Amino acid sequence: MLPDIEQLLELQVADQEIRKLREEIAELPKRISAIEQKLAGTKGRLEKTRTAAKADEANRKKYESTIQDLQLKISKYREQSLDVKTNEQYKALLHEIQFAEQEIRINEDRILEVMVSVEAREKDVKAAEAELKAETAEIEKEKEDARRVTEEDQKKLVEWNAKRDSLRQGISEDILRRYERVMKFRGSGLAEVRDHKCMGCQVMLRPQTYNEVRNGEQIVYCDSCQRVLYFNPANEVKLEQAPEPAHTKRRPRPKADAAQAWFYRPDYGDAGEVLLVFTNQNGAATRCIYDMHSGRQLGDVLNREGNYRQAFPEDLTDSAVRLNGYWEEEEMIDWGSEMPSSALDVLHNDLRAAQREHDKAHKEHSAATAEHSAAG
Ligand SMILES: [Zn+2]
Repeated sequence: MLPDIEQLLELQVADQEIRKLREEIAELPKRISAIEQKLAGTKGRLEKTRTAAKADEANRKKYESTIQDLQLKISKYREQSLDVKTNEQYKALLHEIQFAEQEIRINEDRILEVMVSVEAREKDVKAAEAELKAETAEIEKEKEDARRVTEEDQKKLVEWNAKRDSLRQGISEDILRRYERVMKFRGSGLAEVRDHKCMGCQVMLRPQTYNEVRNGEQIVYCDSCQRVLYFNPANEVKLEQAPEPAHTKRRPRPKADAAQAWFYRPDYGDAGEVLLVFTNQNGAATRCIYDMHSGRQLGDVLNREGNYRQAFPEDLTDSAVRLNGYWEEEEMIDWGSEMPSSALDVLHNDLRAAQREHDKAHKEHSAATAEHSAAG
């Protein structure tokens, strides 16, 4: 293997680590700001309820003093009624007293209304206060976690950056420039060649290109994805020695209605090559994405309503290859954020078998077409 390729392989590992760390560091403040927003919402609600409670209290006092005034008026009218001379005057005073009594009842009703509202508001205030307390505790914990993870990530980032810098120095400038351009867009800058195929984009190489990569005397780029190509004899020898499974045994066809379904996508946005696993359960579907080569989990697990075909149609493009593979849920939980190489091997082997089958079918089809035209 060319020394440049060896260096590039190490550089790619460093670049992918750096990318992952940067993403993680950028993600943390967003999570905190989301909780802070929620916290501000709860604070606002509490403030509003407290203001309304104060207004209730002021209103109650106002109604009570109105009642006192009215009672005073009534006793004054009663005193005056003792001194009246005419029936007319007496009637007028009686009318005033009745009016004042009616006003008192109205104000008493208002006080009752306020009391009911005060009770409801007290409940609201208590609930908001409890919520605020929980959220404050949560944000403190989140901040502490974020601070710790960021610190660890920053430390790792410094280490990886130093490693990256020293690796870059050992690689020719022209190769480095081309590698970095592809890396930026595809998430990986070099790809292994296996079975005459670029494992980065799954396109068959021309025989001359394949031989050039195999000879390992010069740097060769993939015509279709521009990745730097390399050949690992260890992998090819194993393949050539192993009995061709496609010839002896047919690849089992993945079940269409399986509860767990694995797919391979060579072109998954920035992530490039990925493995997707869908699980149907209780009328909903979850999706988890893994990096094709490292087996590392990418992003969060998504859950949507319906089976996975209805829930994630955007993932099931023409380039998606359905793979054989099944693991128990508990086992997959044990994987954590990275699937083990044993599981990766199963899926990689099945993908190769699927591709061989596809190629064979293609060849047979071409041969049949040629025969047909020769006969005609
Ligand atoms: Zn390619």
